[in-house]
Amino acid sequence: MDTVKYILTEDDMPRYWYNIVADLPFPLPPVIHPATGRPVGPDDLAPLFPMALIAQEVTTEREVEIPEPVRDVYRLWRPTPLFRARRLEEALGTPARIYYKYEGVSPAGSHKPNTAVAQAFYNKAEGVRRLTTETGAGQWGSALAMACRFFDLECKVYMVKVSYHQKPYRRVLMETWGAQVVPSPSPDTRAGRAVLAENPDSPGSLGIAISEAVEDAASRDDTKYSLGSVLNHVLLHQTVIGLEARKQLELAGDYPDVVVGCVGGGSNFAGLAFPFVADKLRGKSLRIIAVEPEACPSLTRGVYTYDFGDTAGTTPLLRMHTLGHTFVPAGIHAGGLRYHGMAPLVSLLYENGLIEARAEHQTAVFRAAVEFARAEGIVPAPESAHAIKVVVDLAVEAREAGRAQVILFNLSGHGHFDLAAYEQYLAGRLEDYAYPRERVEEALKNLPQVPAAGD
Ligand SMILES: *Cc1c(COP(=O)(O)O)cnc(C)c1O
Repeated sequence: MDTVKYILTEDDMPRYWYNIVADLPFPLPPVIHPATGRPVGPDDLAPLFPMALIAQEVTTEREVEIPEPVRDVYRLWRPTPLFRARRLEEALGTPARIYYKYEGVSPAGSHKPNTAVAQAFYNKAEGVRRLTTETGAGQWGSALAMACRFFDLECKVYMVKVSYHQKPYRRVLMETWGAQVVPSPSPDTRAGRAVLAENPDSPGSLGIAISEAVEDAASRDDTKYSLGSVLNHVLLHQTVIGLEARKQLELAGDYPDVVVGCVGGGSNFAGLAFPFVADKLRGKSLRIIAVEPEACPSLTRGVYTYDFGDTAGTTPLLRMHTLGHTFVPAGIHAGGLRYHGMAPLVSLLYENGLIEARAEHQTAVFRAAVEFARAEGIVPAPESAHAIKVVVDLAVEAREAGRAQVILFNLSGHGHFDLAAYEQYLAGRLEDYAYPRERVEEALKNLPQVPAAGD
């Protein structure tokens, strides 16, 4: 029988998130306060995050229990299916067995609700009434808008103004779930008003939107701030993906030779890969590959150092691969994954040789996306298509070598809100963007000085 979908029951859904920190043979560098050079403590973070999430940020426990109300919401779309890409294998004529974990079945269309729901739950449990966040194209904003609705929290999303006007459908999705969405820079915060005073026509940026969302949360007792990637607790919540995938591959009687995921801030990649990194740390032999855009290649070309998490330079300092916090990828880059840095946990694994990284050009990424859509039906998110590009390359290599590799990748979301980018590609208007060496060198000049601890 040629099974295509490996399905778990709701009862098979993981009861614990997997915390890779418990198994690391090397220490995770602390998050540093930019003024003192000392590790940040719970008090520094308390204005922005609930205590439960601050505790998860630093826990070394291997398993963190998933609260029952979070599992109840997960049940709306989890467990997600694991597909065997038989039609893609056939199209490529490859002996490789290709599996993909499909996170696009969530109501928001990506993996992001896995953490949004958990974050909304913990905030509600600690008496928070309202969450703020920033969003670019709107994927994170829509995940948080939905999660806030389920836990009866108000949600205010500062959406980068140019996206607010160019991509109205994600905004409508957020508003349908009851969130308030404002174009950033907005007149609602001091940070927004300052930008508007200087440039009333500012198109906005993620950096400005973060500053607004953080200021809003820090200035109100009933409000906290929520982040959709990069931080340890976000990666922790995403591990349901890999925990399910491991069980589903057991059903298939297979185990991956290669695990592939795209990386922006690192959360969907970590979610799939970390349970397999655990196997690798216990002696299993497999390759794990993170794929990023050539236009924003933080792992393959960045520096592993302390940098700000946001463009405005207001957050604590994270040890990560970074292109410099002032680096912003060019507007013509259509494939997402635009973050200047990388999750500290993903960076640490890369630095220690446990995972590999590759950077890909966008036309090759969209070519692979279309090839996938024509074989498997699903139109992938452009972000996810970075992983698909590498999977196709590996499958072709397997064909040429006559080797039956088992490949697993994360299809982190669907591309139904990204059809403008597909339209550009199909019309031949998408161009490759060479690695912006000079702009990265410029941004790296703005790396912060880390004060000696105790200054
Ligand atoms: C946000 C997003 C990404 C990139 O973020 P990560 O934190 O690196 O996962 C990738 N794929 C999809 C579908 C997304 O929405």
